[in-house]
Amino acid sequence: MSTILIAEDTASIASFVEKGLRAAGYQCQVVGDGPTALLMARSDAYDLMILDIGLPGMDGFEVLGQLRAGGSRLPVVILTARDSVIDTVAGLEGGANDYVTKPFQFAELLARVRLRLAEPGPATPSGGNDLVVGELRLDLLARRVSVEGASHDLTAREFGLLEVLMKHPDQVLSREQLLGMVWSMDFDPSSNVVDVFIRSLHAKVGARRIETVRGMGYRLRS
Ligand code: CA
Repeated sequence: MSTILIAEDTASIASFVEKGLRAAGYQCQVVGDGPTALLMARSDAYDLMILDIGLPGMDGFEVLGQLRAGGSRLPVVILTARDSVIDTVAGLEGGANDYVTKPFQFAELLARVRLRLAEPGPATPSGGNDLVVGELRLDLLARRVSVEGASHDLTAREFGLLEVLMKHPDQVLSREQLLGMVWSMDFDPSSNVVDVFIRSLHAKVGARRIETVRGMGYRLRS
């Protein structure tokens, strides 16, 4: 079992990430400031670090810089609200492995974590970075779906939604569940955003594959 260090000072985000990762089968440790993150990251006790940039004491870029300067090759996934090109380039030069920008969907973070750990999770029995249900094949890395020989690019939200549905085949998921799993923390329960994205997925994978269960939600048919 892999152990993940979560360096994040916002308690609600740290708890959201921790809960999700534990549910996905990982062990986690949360730290809330830069110096502690660096100390723990150097301890060899972790397989990967999720690193917030805006940390007290020492920001994420400095943590990363010092970690790499010390020779550590610990995989790092940066989690940040700063999605500007300048910050991304600064992070790459500092030796980060990957990025997820806030607000993020947990499915996206999990895909990045799995990829960096090179450890296929329980939902990828094919052993690669693909999730397969029936005729649908979802490439978790390229964010493309293949069906009946055709391949379609997915937007980040389409990808997150389809990934969740494919991980729960033949199970009815309510709009609220889908909002919580895909849109994470910034959702309005009265929003019709789920329906909108289901329609765009219908156009790509075929309407019959994702059923509307009246008054209940949606179900991906295997
Ligand atoms: Ca922060």
